[in-house]
Amino acid sequence: MEIWTQFIEELCAPPVLKINAPALSEQQIDLFVQREDLIHPRLSGNKWHKLKYNIKEALDSNKKTLITFGGAFSNHIAATAEAGEIFRLSTIGIIRGEEEGTNPTLRKAKELGMKLIYVSRTAYRDKVKLINELGLDLSQSIIIPEGGTNENALKGCEDIILKSPIRDKIDYWCVACGTGGTAAGMITALEGQSELLGFSVLKGNWMEKEINDLSATRKGSANKNWSVNTDFHFGGYAKFNEELIDFINVFKRDHGVQLEPVYTGKLFFGLFELIAQDYFTPGTSIAVIHTGGLQGLEGFAQRYGALIA
Ligand SMILES: *Cc1c(COP(=O)(O)O)cnc(C)c1O
Repeated sequence: MEIWTQFIEELCAPPVLKINAPALSEQQIDLFVQREDLIHPRLSGNKWHKLKYNIKEALDSNKKTLITFGGAFSNHIAATAEAGEIFRLSTIGIIRGEEEGTNPTLRKAKELGMKLIYVSRTAYRDKVKLINELGLDLSQSIIIPEGGTNENALKGCEDIILKSPIRDKIDYWCVACGTGGTAAGMITALEGQSELLGFSVLKGNWMEKEINDLSATRKGSANKNWSVNTDFHFGGYAKFNEELIDFINVFKRDHGVQLEPVYTGKLFFGLFELIAQDYFTPGTSIAVIHTGGLQGLEGFAQRYGALIA
């Protein structure tokens, strides 16, 4: 338990940055970036919040291993590997697709002590069968789903609201949605107060139902003070275009905040589009959550070149 307490003490409150831009002052919008990416140098962002009560459960129940799943560039795999090294838990990452020897995410995970098991895309689909066939010692392990979304994750993401330094002055909370677990936890914590606007980074219109189901499992029926925008996925998960890359580079140049093309780039792009379209009434105060994910930039540059400044 000592390691747990020590790590919690190392965390800082998320720094908050107020963004100044003509597009905002014209519309009398106050926009704050809540930097969850800066709360700890090694393990931060929403992936920390999603993992933390899983880690605590493992430590409290003397489990030795975290087993989880992900693609080759997964922020969740990276965070789980970090967590294993920090909290002295062994970690097993079951990776979808072919072995990628030079992928920086997996190389780092391995360096941190994660055992990587590569499975085909077909085998990856049936997680229960896979776990059984791999013959892992489940009595000593906690299994965390792909992307990290489970009940512990929702509970952890409530803190993005409950521990926000700007909690009392926000009308709209904006966050990127992949599995929807982060948004669902935030919605639970809001208890019907103020609004949450999720931005789906995946194609399709199923995200609202998913979030509804997730938040309903945690605290009875879900409140209705939230919605998900599906207009800014740029063609699907990890898809991007030049416009998105330009936006990320200009945002960094103008405001000194690094974004990435999978989650936060799409979120911030979409938010500025909605502001330009008069989506928000004048006087609205918005918090946009920087959920981290910057570890993925190295792998992105390796695949596509130095597009991001
Ligand atoms: C995983 C991730 C998300 C999406 O979180 P979900 O809980 O899966 O919706 C958003 N931003 C970043 C940086 C992430 O790594």
